[in-house]
Amino acid sequence: MPECIPIKVGMTVQLRKKHPCGGDLWTVTYVGADIAAVCMRCRRRVMLPREEFERRIRKVLSPDEDASVRGKGQ
Ligand SMILES: [Zn+2]
Repeated sequence: MPECIPIKVGMTVQLRKKHPCGGDLWTVTYVGADIAAVCMRCRRRVMLPREEFERRIRKVLSPDEDASVRGKGQ
């Protein structure tokens, strides 16, 4: 897995573990010592220590991929 991911607000990531709702895509909404992200499927918000969040990332999606996956256009 990537070691140094430049996590930024607004980026969409795929995490290794699925949310109970079945979604595994998250949009980052806050970056600090902790990182907050919103599940793109159920819109629930979670907050994790940055280190743990980075460990859970499987894939970082570009904004373009994000838009096509979401299919709603924000
Ligand atoms: Zn969810």
